[in-house]
Amino acid sequence: MEYEMRAEYAEGASPRDPEPRFEVWHITRLDQTTALCGRELDPDAVTLTADAWGTPAGQPLCHACGASYIHQVPHHLS
Ligand SMILES: [Zn+2]
Repeated sequence: MEYEMRAEYAEGASPRDPEPRFEVWHITRLDQTTALCGRELDPDAVTLTADAWGTPAGQPLCHACGASYIHQVPHHLS
């Protein structure tokens, strides 16, 4: 199963803003817009590869997604 990180935008911001602000990174299955925590994310939202998980580029991270991701990818941190 492949994953990627997808941004949740700040209130009133959108991916179409010139300099969109986002609140938090969620984790989704590749090519899906529903985060592991159940949050529906914008299909146009910026994404990062799952490799950014746990790096400064992937902060702040949704805690619920982080917990699910560790559970589903137990060897990720090895
Ligand atoms: Zn989440």
